[in-house]
Amino acid sequence: MLSCLEYMYHDLGLVQEFNMNPIILKRWLLSIQENYRNNPFHNFRHCFCVTQMMYGMIHLCNLQETLSLTDLLILMTGAICHDLDHPGYNNAYQINARTELAVRYNDISPLENHHCAVAFQILSQPECNIFANVDPEIFKQIRQGIITLILATDMARHGEILDSFKPKVATFNFLNEEHKMSLKMLLIKCCDISNEVRPTEVADPWVDCLLEEYFTQSDREKSEGLPVAPFMDRDKVTKPTAQIGFIKFVLIPTFETLMKLFPQIEEATVQPLRDSRDRYEELKQIDDAMNELQKKTENIPLGWKKK
Ligand code: 5GP
Ligand code: MN
Repeated sequence: MLSCLEYMYHDLGLVQEFNMNPIILKRWLLSIQENYRNNPFHNFRHCFCVTQMMYGMIHLCNLQETLSLTDLLILMTGAICHDLDHPGYNNAYQINARTELAVRYNDISPLENHHCAVAFQILSQPECNIFANVDPEIFKQIRQGIITLILATDMARHGEILDSFKPKVATFNFLNEEHKMSLKMLLIKCCDISNEVRPTEVADPWVDCLLEEYFTQSDREKSEGLPVAPFMDRDKVTKPTAQIGFIKFVLIPTFETLMKLFPQIEEATVQPLRDSRDRYEELKQIDDAMNELQKKTENIPLGWKKK
């Protein structure tokens, strides 16, 4: 994964354009890896998947022709840094449990603020500063861009970010900085939630990872007497129920919004999402049938069951 990420920075021309020291790039990537925790879901592999999806989207949408290298650097670096030092418990937990992070950031996207702060702490070490040779004015732009993108990954702002992109599509202008920022925010969001775009054998285990992290959180919330979100509750959620709603109401509408600007993404992203939705709906029907059967057999007297 480290070599692939390194390759992407070279391949996109970022190393050359921003005069990065290749050794510092390697060291920076190692430090990024060290600063992801071994959570079931929010780990370095998730960081890699999001970044690799961003690299794929840059190519699929021909962004090298329409965006600047500074924009591409912001997209790639934002993706790599977007979940740094994630503790495995979401913002709702941070806020309800009044953790140090929630106190520090006044309940305002505590996790995303933290991921971003850790990103710039790493970059503040000279041995990991891939931006050491960047002009201070350009650095300001890069820093602002990365902050905006990482803060945009808070799903609490999902509707707001999608709604602000939609009216721009009809007159989208790649020379308009506001339009470009709105697009970059939508892109990082798409990549962040893109597991279900991947082939079933890759996507399916990610759901187990996500549910494992959810259940660890909800078990702890129950034991600490904190509110539990139904979508995290092991007594209420199954893989199909978790995915059907998320694919239908979050993933497909989000990717279809991006598809308005880049129709070519339909085959590689929206279609796999539709297929995955259909697969999970079939799995849910099987689950439902099994549950019905179990209910019926529970009514059979015990003597019969033994036979
Ligand atoms: P992240 O925490 O990774 O920055 O933001 C993405 C959030 O979207 C995750 O925490 C999770 O709540 C949600 N999410 C991402 N992918 C999936 C998925 O495949 N299924 C479901 N149910 N939620 C997802
Ligand atoms: Mn993420």
